[in-house]
Amino acid sequence: MSDYSLNTELDGQKLSCRVVHSRRKTLQLEVLPDLSVRLIAPPGTNPAVCSRMLERRRGWLRAQRQFFRQFHPLTTRREYVSGETHLYLGRRLRLKVVAGRVKSVKVTRHHLTVCPGESTSPRLVKATLWSWYREQATDVFQERLRGCMVRLKLKPDDGPRSLVIRSYRSRWGSMSPKRTLALNIDLIRAPRECIDYVVIHELCHLKLPHHGPDFWSELETLMPDWRQRKVKLETITA
Ligand SMILES: [Zn+2]
Repeated sequence: MSDYSLNTELDGQKLSCRVVHSRRKTLQLEVLPDLSVRLIAPPGTNPAVCSRMLERRRGWLRAQRQFFRQFHPLTTRREYVSGETHLYLGRRLRLKVVAGRVKSVKVTRHHLTVCPGESTSPRLVKATLWSWYREQATDVFQERLRGCMVRLKLKPDDGPRSLVIRSYRSRWGSMSPKRTLALNIDLIRAPRECIDYVVIHELCHLKLPHHGPDFWSELETLMPDWRQRKVKLETITA
């Protein structure tokens, strides 16, 4: 059965819901950070059943969409100048660019103070900030991985062989068949609970390489609130 869209109305506005089929046993309604609505359904689900679910969850849909609307517009271009906000471990910090002899980045309660050297061109500010992000990610990701291994009761020998930090455009992490765990550097902008969600997801791939029903039920057992963490991650870092 191919995917299709259901149309309904919410507060006098047309609302379109994409129905996506997936091998699962229950219906799941989702509101994505871009406010679009998606219903994941087992193959062969009667469209009338999907329609009823959509009608029944109106109040929830409204609340979810309101929640995401507060973060819009989602993409703000960063200029790397004083005054704009940047994220570090889920904290929204105000960038303060200063000139000085020694290159440095400092985090205080509300500020991220970046000194790229004597020149404060945005290009240098960006390079300084991202090399600092990378240094922090190296420590923080290792620490999160250790914690997640304990949570999964994995012995060091059964965990990933190595951890690498990458810049991915559209994924948070991956686990290679050779057990290299790769994590997106962008995760350093997210809260630790969101980093853990990605690490646990990837660690589940050690046992179950594909996203089959077994994978999702394993993830559900290990981290019952993974969906909330995923939504938070996508919302905060958007
Ligand atoms: Zn995966």
